[in-house]
Amino acid sequence: MHELSICESIATAVTGHAGGRRVRSVRLRVGALRQIVPDTLVFCWQIAARGPLLEGSVLDVEVVPGEVVCAGCGTRDRLTRFALQCQACGGPVSVVAGEEMLIESIEVEDEVEVEDEDEPQPGASADPGDVGTPPRTTTTRK
Ligand SMILES: [Zn+2]
Repeated sequence: MHELSICESIATAVTGHAGGRRVRSVRLRVGALRQIVPDTLVFCWQIAARGPLLEGSVLDVEVVPGEVVCAGCGTRDRLTRFALQCQACGGPVSVVAGEEMLIESIEVEDEVEVEDEDEPQPGASADPGDVGTPPRTTTTRK
C-alpha cells in the first residue's frame, strides 16, 4: 500500500511547513494518473498524521484530471482513455497534466502552544463541522 508511504512523506513536509503550529487541514492535489485512491490516501493520513502537530488534522484530496497535448497540431484534450493519440489529427500526444502530486496549502492554528488538555475524544471520527468554537486559523499557501 504505497498510499501510506506517501502520507508519511506528506506528514514530514507539512510538519516542516507548520513551524511548530498545530495543523488543522492539508489540501493536496493529486493527478489522476498517479493511480492513487483518494479514499485510501485519506484513510492512511489518519495513520500517518501522528504527533501533537498533526493529530486530528484532515487531509483534503483534490484529483486533477489527466490531460494530453498533441505534438503536431497542439490540440489539448482530457485523457479519458489510455490511447496516446490525438483526437483531432491522430498524431502522438504527450501527457501534460495528471501526474502531479503537490501540497497546495496547509491550515494551521494561530497559536504556538500545542498542548490541549480538553481535546474531545481523540479516537472519535473527526467531523470538521462540529468542533465547538474553533480557534482562529490561518491558511499558509506555498
Ligand atoms: Zn493533433
